[in-house]
Amino acid sequence: MPACAKTEQPNDPIRAMTAGAHCERREAERSIRGDATGRVSSSYGEIRMSLKIHPAVDDGLKPAMQDFPGGTLRCRCSDGAVEVEITGQVAHNHVCGCTKCWKPQGSLFSQVGVVPRERMQVTANGNKLSIVDPKATIQRYACQACGVHMYGRIENKSHPFYGLDFIHTELSDDDGWAPPEFAAFVSSIIESGANPESMAEVRERLRELQLEPYDCLSPALMDYIATHLAKAAGVLPREMAPA
Ligand SMILES: [Zn+2]
Ligand SMILES: [Zn+2]
Repeated sequence: MPACAKTEQPNDPIRAMTAGAHCERREAERSIRGDATGRVSSSYGEIRMSLKIHPAVDDGLKPAMQDFPGGTLRCRCSDGAVEVEITGQVAHNHVCGCTKCWKPQGSLFSQVGVVPRERMQVTANGNKLSIVDPKATIQRYACQACGVHMYGRIENKSHPFYGLDFIHTELSDDDGWAPPEFAAFVSSIIESGANPESMAEVRERLRELQLEPYDCLSPALMDYIATHLAKAAGVLPREMAPA
């Protein structure tokens, strides 16, 4: 769950509806192009393999450890690194193409997931952290020395994702984190400079890696946001079980 347009604007139902329609239209366009994409990508297989989606997935996904106890995230400072301790497993891990999530140099996507905020604790050199953009819905805390984002937090209590912190599990040396499950905001990589003509290859590569590409969040998360908005607007009963 990224920073992404949708996440940043969750309390504006009109915008949310427009975003939804936008996603549906893209789905339709994609299915029309399906055959052509398949033919083209088969002759561009090598280009596809060389696409740097993200170091955590480029060689295939690593399986999650059952009952994973959690781990420590460290920024890239060789001296006095910021440390963040996570208890338990990350949820909804995914690769994200938006322009706001922190990503390693040369990667087309970031890797980002969530943990309940009470299971996240800054344990070393927290004084090096500052908020990247105080006006953004997600307050991303970055190390001022190396630039790595250590966690993102939402302070707006009516936001659908309030109570969840956004983290990058690649900052941990511990094995066993749940791997990404899908690719979000795929079209947005163009806004970071990706060639629009490479998008068929990018989506093909994501599917090859079992990361279904979406141009918004996954259907499960879009339903979660819509349910939250519907409850807030009184369209659905508040006591209904979460989607
Ligand atoms: Zn993002
Ligand atoms: Zn640092």
